[in-house]
Amino acid sequence: MRKLVNENRIFRDLEELKKITDTQGKGVTRFSYSESDKKARAYLLKEAKAFGLKAETDKIGNMFIKLPENSKKEVIMTGSHIDSVREGGYLDGSLGVICGLEVLRRVREKDLNFKKTIWLVVFVEEEGSNFNATITGSKFLTGEYGEEDLDILKNKDGATLRRILKENNYPEFNSEELKPDFNNIKAMIELHIEQGPVLDRKGISLGIVENINGMKVHEITVTGLSNHAGASPMTGRKDALVFSSECVLKTKEIIERDGKGSEVATVGHLEVSPNMSNVIPGRVKFTLEVRGPEAERINSLSEMILSEYRLLAERENVEIDIEKVAFSKPYRMDKSIVTALEETAKKQKEPYLLMNSGAVHDTGSMSSYIPSAMIFVPSIDGRSHVSTEETKKEDIIKGANLLMETLLSLAD
Ligand SMILES: [Zn+2]
Repeated sequence: MRKLVNENRIFRDLEELKKITDTQGKGVTRFSYSESDKKARAYLLKEAKAFGLKAETDKIGNMFIKLPENSKKEVIMTGSHIDSVREGGYLDGSLGVICGLEVLRRVREKDLNFKKTIWLVVFVEEEGSNFNATITGSKFLTGEYGEEDLDILKNKDGATLRRILKENNYPEFNSEELKPDFNNIKAMIELHIEQGPVLDRKGISLGIVENINGMKVHEITVTGLSNHAGASPMTGRKDALVFSSECVLKTKEIIERDGKGSEVATVGHLEVSPNMSNVIPGRVKFTLEVRGPEAERINSLSEMILSEYRLLAERENVEIDIEKVAFSKPYRMDKSIVTALEETAKKQKEPYLLMNSGAVHDTGSMSSYIPSAMIFVPSIDGRSHVSTEETKKEDIIKGANLLMETLLSLAD
């Protein structure tokens, strides 16, 4: 393998960021705007300054680290996020940020010069840990979120994003100042852990992402009839949980039969009422989430599953109310950037897998404006958003080298 990045520096930084958490010993908890988030940002800033890099933070908290060039050069961008879920892993987001920083450090210490310049963006509030809404930072950059969302986005204590920004001394919001000049940014590449088991199972170190899956979430409220669990015979019951359990199994059956391999459906949340051992469950709320790379397929699969629920409801004599609660569209990555990544991987003699991302990423929303793609490295046993999240060191370095060499070739 050609030596491009400084491996020790990457592992040191990842270890340092791992220590900056609100839940010591129990994974990484670092919500945007928290004290830990500020400490992590200070760490990045110190590193950036040591290499003469410029850093700017926009009015919502996205941080940009740039080469100290004044010109109006065209931009090649990389980036990810440093916020986390509660008790999450140390690589989610941080890997892409640290490896992006490493590219800039390398360019500085080797005094490399290119036609275009390179920016690292550290997106704020990617995970949605504060506001239950993912990829918030990039949605503000693209204008998908505007000033009104400062009052709509609220944390669990009811504090709005506007109030949180004010308390953290952010300057007054200005959506026009926030938007980068997208015409001048020629590419965006994010390196991220896969967060699923595909690469790990296949034993391939590098994934090049062609699509980021979209998803549709429905909430289903089932109304049956609560009654004494001892005195009510099995016939004639209206058990909302028995019905919901049939729905869960039907969901698996339909997606396995009619879904393509890249499509998934999950019932991930159930609320059973009254949730007592001696009462027939009279009411259940559950979610159906369908994900895939094509919007039409997500819609048709959701409909297929929901109409099966309706048929079952008639048979089981319960009432159901179906409500759509969320939709995020799938994103297609740019062919020319995917090709650039493939060519670099071939040059590096590294096998790679063309794949889809099951998880949503900021690069998705950026891809509507900037030619974008992503690099994945394997997550051991597919684990992510947990403290045991891990990637082999050699895979991290392969991902970092693919990122670096492709960014430099695009900047040239
Ligand atoms: Zn992430």
